[in-house]
Amino acid sequence: MRRDRGKVYLIGAGPGDTGLLSVRGAELLGQAEVLLYDRLINPMLLLEVPETCEKILVGKREGAHQCIQEKINSLLRKKSLEGKRVVRLKGGDPFVFGRGGEEILALEKEGIPYEVVPGITSSIAVPALAGIPVTHRKVARSFHVITGHTAEQGITEQLEQYASLDGTLVFLMGVGNLQEIVRQLLEHGKPADTPVSIVERGSTIYQRRIDGTLDTILELSRLEAVRPPAVFVVGKVSAYHMQSERLPLAGCRIGVTGTSHIVKKLERALKELGANVFVAPHLKIVPTDTLKNRWRKENLMWRTVHWLVFTSANGVQQFFKQIRELGMDRRMLGHLKYAVIGEGTKKALWEYGIRADYIPKDYTVKELAVGLMKELKAGEHICVLRAKNGSKELEKVWDKAGIPYEDLSIYQAKVEENIVELLWESVSVLDYLVFASAFGVQGFLEKKEFLYKRKLWEEFQGTMVSIGDQTKKVLREMLPKTKKKIVVADCHTVEGIVQKILACEKEDFDEKQT
Ligand code: SAH
Repeated sequence: MRRDRGKVYLIGAGPGDTGLLSVRGAELLGQAEVLLYDRLINPMLLLEVPETCEKILVGKREGAHQCIQEKINSLLRKKSLEGKRVVRLKGGDPFVFGRGGEEILALEKEGIPYEVVPGITSSIAVPALAGIPVTHRKVARSFHVITGHTAEQGITEQLEQYASLDGTLVFLMGVGNLQEIVRQLLEHGKPADTPVSIVERGSTIYQRRIDGTLDTILELSRLEAVRPPAVFVVGKVSAYHMQSERLPLAGCRIGVTGTSHIVKKLERALKELGANVFVAPHLKIVPTDTLKNRWRKENLMWRTVHWLVFTSANGVQQFFKQIRELGMDRRMLGHLKYAVIGEGTKKALWEYGIRADYIPKDYTVKELAVGLMKELKAGEHICVLRAKNGSKELEKVWDKAGIPYEDLSIYQAKVEENIVELLWESVSVLDYLVFASAFGVQGFLEKKEFLYKRKLWEEFQGTMVSIGDQTKKVLREMLPKTKKKIVVADCHTVEGIVQKILACEKEDFDEKQT
């Protein structure tokens, strides 16, 4: 049976930060059936495709041989002929030294339908993120994007014509040939005192900017051991630093871990204050079959329950998603009362139009267990809907008091190993590492021999921030001899974490002043 050809989407992913993918690109990524991506793509973007999507790394490096390009073209063709929606994701913009054009021509030859979604190119965005405007009134009236590396000759042929231009020169793929580029520009008359900058790994937690002049930059780049990917900016605009230093967390590098829900909230709040955030959603929420099995057996179970208890926003979301999938009408829950821990959980419940009846003052499981007992009328039954391996405090309190309750594990958190690895790789540059749950700590430190073996942990000079005492306790247990600083948020919320980091920064600042 012949299937229709699937459409191919050639999408620019931007320079690295997931927030710099276009809205259209993100939408299409969420519908991909096959994803072909390059080495430079931020791995976090791979989380945006559906679970069932086939992900293929087409390891193309700078100056890759033609045969690799041919392989990519034939893979695109093959997947399209299978009738799949294929996303070809490329760093920056697909047509800026991305060989996107070659892929399009190959698709056209085969009569395969396609769409191009432009991306934010590193040639403009990376300087901008480092505070360099590629044009500036009266300073640079043009900018020129030049490859610092061609497959045929290594170095671009004619730097002579560029040397005479007044506009900004932006070299991509130029690290390997920096010496030759600088030599030719000087030889052809660019003044030796022309300001230049190298921006390495722009828009990521590793971003570095190295400033100099045509005369000094080679030595500086050697000293700083510059590595690709980096852009090399030549021109007066390199003397500018258009980056606000006035934000309280400017220059602060913070790794945030946990489920994507909490990590995104933290990212938003911390970026607002100027922080450079490494987003590591290393926990994934996976539903269990508990409700399904239960529903099959006795679908009127809700009639015998009076209180539903949620200990997390994830629990709330999972519950409503699951009962909907089971075909249950929400009116069956009309008679119930609801108890929750924390503002986030309360808000999540309100998203479903339900106001919590009870919320303890202190956001701990124990406080909820004790407090809810006082609210309970004689004969009322409680049903707790939460994660597998939740805190044992509820049982302790209610068993002792003889309270009737049911504890249903409706979801569990799973550790995303590849994200944990990426996080490990980043720890040496982090000023703070945030943990929002005890399980999150376990997920990160489970294989800590790896960290130790590679000496990654020794390089971590930052502070660990935990959302609450339980999370801190697990950190202490898993890192018994650590001298590294661990702080706890005063209020067990995202806002509490942010406030704690601000307080630590202030303390640090005050210390430096005295
Ligand atoms: N199509 C891409 C460029 C591909 S060529 C775009 O539009 O951005 C690859 C080169 O892009 C790298 O060698 C480097 O010079 C530059 N580059 C890509 N991402 C970068 C980043 N995050 N930081 C610095 N340079 C980057």
